[in-house]
Amino acid sequence: MSTGLVWDERYMWHDSGNQFGPPSPWVEPTPHLESAEGKRRIKNLLDASGLTARLTPIPARAATEAELLRAHTPEYLSYIREVSERGGGNIAARATTHIGKNGYDIAALAAGGAIAAVDAVIDGTVENAYALIRPPGHHAEPGEGKGFCVFANGSIAALHAIEARGLERVAIVDWDAHHGNGTQAIFWQDPRVLTVSLHQDGAFPPGSGPATEVGEGDGLGCNINIPLPGGSGEGAYIAALERVVVPALRKFAPDLIIVACGFDAGLFDPLARMNLTSESFRRMAQIVKLQADDACGGRLVMLHEGGYSLHTVPFHALAVLECLSGHRTQVSDPFLPPDGSIGALEPHQAAAIDRVSDVLASLG
Ligand SMILES: [Zn+2]
Repeated sequence: MSTGLVWDERYMWHDSGNQFGPPSPWVEPTPHLESAEGKRRIKNLLDASGLTARLTPIPARAATEAELLRAHTPEYLSYIREVSERGGGNIAARATTHIGKNGYDIAALAAGGAIAAVDAVIDGTVENAYALIRPPGHHAEPGEGKGFCVFANGSIAALHAIEARGLERVAIVDWDAHHGNGTQAIFWQDPRVLTVSLHQDGAFPPGSGPATEVGEGDGLGCNINIPLPGGSGEGAYIAALERVVVPALRKFAPDLIIVACGFDAGLFDPLARMNLTSESFRRMAQIVKLQADDACGGRLVMLHEGGYSLHTVPFHALAVLECLSGHRTQVSDPFLPPDGSIGALEPHQAAAIDRVSDVLASLG
């Protein structure tokens, strides 16, 4: 058994635009923070470290329209196709999420890469898998793209696991620094999918993801938001996982765990203010991997989401892939704080986690 890696050169051709942030007449536009370079540097480090050679390549394929329609409206798919065919542009109703010509096809290839990873794990071709896909997906809602996300890769993969492969329950654990609003919206009333989001409180979408949003109807209690104060580090994330996420996973007993694996809660990220290191991500991956071992025979799929520090993200990703594959390379992370002291659990962070526990306890 081994760890699978989804990677496709065409993910690098996604055109996220030559403008980050609101346009200004005063400064030259800069390349977008969600860039091909960030992902390529991860792949390059996996290659240079020798880890890629130990992974099982999983070919990506384009998600079909029927597969995309499990999470999105027909109108939204038509809109993305239209923008794509006219040569690209902004697809977001609010703020900017840019695609280029053929943007539809590359986004469908990202969703299909997530599906391929899920299939490989369910088929037992690999024990677990990492899909280094682009564009990301967790902000995409049924009828609206946002936050650099076009199609909801993780949700589409979870719905494939249930509706095409016959699994009964899937858990999605999202540790991207920003709220998994799209995943929450798609499964708001769906008890088949447990959605858990750990995120910087109120960061993006602005104000999104309070602990009080727990799902509705049949899905009541199947949505867990863990908003953590800006500045939270390893102590807060490990406490949130151990005190909230692990008990929730044990109770839900998923047949598959999907991690929306963003690295923008890393300590040098330009788009969040959290303090995780590569060792933090390694520990978080270990915790979730153990839960997958206990609950579902190790079935674990990680899907790449955000992470915008070109310098540090490759080391974060390598640590996670080392954990998944059980193979430690000789690479050392030059950005690790020398004394490992950064990010201890602070009282106000513990209080934020307690508030989530209180909300869940009130549901019974
Ligand atoms: Zn993010």
